[in-house]
Amino acid sequence: MMPHLKPIIEHIRETDNFLVLSHVSPDGDALGSMLAMGELLAALGKRVTLFNESGIPSRFSWLAPKREILTALPENEPDTIIVLDCGSAERTGEVIRPWLASKTVINIDHHLGNPKFGTMNWIEERSSSVGEMVGILSRKLGVPMVGLLGEYVYLALISDTGDFCFNNTRPETLEMAAEILRLGLLPGPFHEQKQSTGTLNQLQMRGEVLRQASLHAGGRVTLIAFTRELFERTGTGPEDTEGLVNTVLYVRGVQVAVSLREEDKGIKFSLRSKGSVNVQAVAALFGGGGHRNAAGGTLEVPMGEAKATLIRAVTEELDRA
Ligand code: 5GP
Ligand code: MN
Repeated sequence: MMPHLKPIIEHIRETDNFLVLSHVSPDGDALGSMLAMGELLAALGKRVTLFNESGIPSRFSWLAPKREILTALPENEPDTIIVLDCGSAERTGEVIRPWLASKTVINIDHHLGNPKFGTMNWIEERSSSVGEMVGILSRKLGVPMVGLLGEYVYLALISDTGDFCFNNTRPETLEMAAEILRLGLLPGPFHEQKQSTGTLNQLQMRGEVLRQASLHAGGRVTLIAFTRELFERTGTGPEDTEGLVNTVLYVRGVQVAVSLREEDKGIKFSLRSKGSVNVQAVAALFGGGGHRNAAGGTLEVPMGEAKATLIRAVTEELDRA
């Protein structure tokens, strides 16, 4: 068994009251792994509270989780906090931080350079998703991935692997997906439900952004930008930007895609790369993080400056590679 897993399994067996949380602005892996962990602990007869400072984004409202996802601290204090898909303690948000310092924390993650901020840490940089790690826990604890547990793990798998297309898709990932399908999940209806969340406004806003996409670094970098003005004019919002950065990565000859979004705190950036180009290294320069081929962060500067800064940093990374 993986060395860090055994004490975690023992701790889960011996403890009753858990709080499970994942990173702010959750994606499919953050939500999927958190909800799956909730199902797993409930199947073991444990008390469990789910927490996410941002709550559940509307594009995931179809999940309609039966267990509430709290955005404020619960009155009932847990014995142990399980932190999922957070590359650093900051990714948990602001609200829960005091508890992270004072309670037993199990940190389960797959980001590069996780600083192991937990009391117990299980970090697998090669794992496709934290959902895959929760699936491994389910097997070890003898809980089959049927029903909701299977759906939540599957959501995490397809979200972080780009429907099993990205470099992080391993034989083990597909074997876990196969196991879930054998236990009854139907991928067609599941994908339809997951994808059918867009609006015409969203589609047209994305069209406008794509029309203004630009090439840089001699055709090796694509850049797209979402401004607040655009959101207001088209009746859309930050959530409607999801995934467009992956689309512009697939321009011929492009190795890195940059997506910028105006937010209250500054410019949120998303980076995607092909092959061995490491965009986590670029994000880390600006206090962000992620994986080799997918990373992000925030720059507290105006849009024009964020564009110039990121194009320069990405070009330097490409020239080094
Ligand atoms: P996305 O571009 O989809 O927001 O995120 C891509 C990857 O980068 C994800 O693994 C995500 O966890 C990570 N990431 C995105 N934003 C941040 C950030 O502000 N800080 C850190 N440490 N990681 C981030
Ligand atoms: Mn993840």
